[in-house]
Amino acid sequence: MALKTILNVSYVEPLIGLYPKQSLLQPMWDVILRFVSSDVLQSPLLPIIFSVSFYFICCFPFMIVDIYGKKWYWIQKYKIQPTKEVTWSQVYDTLYVTMWNHLFLILPMTIVQAFVTPLTVIPENAPGMWEFCWQITLFMLIFDLEYYVWHYVHHRNRFLYNHFHALHHRYYSPFSWVTQYLHPWELLSVGVFVTTTPWVIADCHPLTAWGFMVTNIIVSIEAHIGFDFPWSLHHWCPFGLWGGAPKHDMHHQRPQSNYQPFFTHFDRLFGTSTSFRYAGGVIENKKKII
Ligand SMILES: [Zn+2]
Ligand SMILES: [Zn+2]
Repeated sequence: MALKTILNVSYVEPLIGLYPKQSLLQPMWDVILRFVSSDVLQSPLLPIIFSVSFYFICCFPFMIVDIYGKKWYWIQKYKIQPTKEVTWSQVYDTLYVTMWNHLFLILPMTIVQAFVTPLTVIPENAPGMWEFCWQITLFMLIFDLEYYVWHYVHHRNRFLYNHFHALHHRYYSPFSWVTQYLHPWELLSVGVFVTTTPWVIADCHPLTAWGFMVTNIIVSIEAHIGFDFPWSLHHWCPFGLWGGAPKHDMHHQRPQSNYQPFFTHFDRLFGTSTSFRYAGGVIENKKKII
């Protein structure tokens, strides 16, 4: 039985008290359908243009904090490596690589995609809230596994590391623009994983696919901001399953550990986990750090 059938809305949504007939997302979907033309919604360019714009919009406030907020105690007290400061030259360097990748990789790919990708089918009904949530969780788990394997291989193989992944590790103390400070091959790999992962659900709703894309961008940036906020997911996710910024920050400090981008289960299972450094530079368990 297909996964989607097992987790079908009709079985689960009534049980968890969500609206079985009309999705909670329907009002938002109706607004989108009303104010965005169908040409735009169907265009294969929409996800790319939207994700690029969303990435820049999300990174920008953290750049302001990094550059102009060095004395803002109310936020600097959450910095994971408080002695490390972000400079303008680092911002220029990371932005230069980001812009280069977008001009010479993302833009040509976008143009090709405009011709080869079929138009997105836009249904009238929004996905159910339960369907929306479990599918995005599933996509996150699949993406996490894909990138874990890619990441592990590119750290363990010296040629792959030196030629493709070392660039991302130029910064021991990450900040928002380091998120896509990537070799084109790495950005291409990540782009393929993000694009193809929703294909595991045959008739995945476009809103769910876009929701996954947005979620992926937010948590990727969060992993690199260098701040450990008390409201972040890793503080309330049960069993320490979510790594968040402290985990990935530690990967930049000790690159032979914490290969999973978001979750922690494979790193713990295969012994590649290193304890995290929380805000204020406090090491959770010094014995585990080697
Ligand atoms: Zn990173
Ligand atoms: Zn790495």
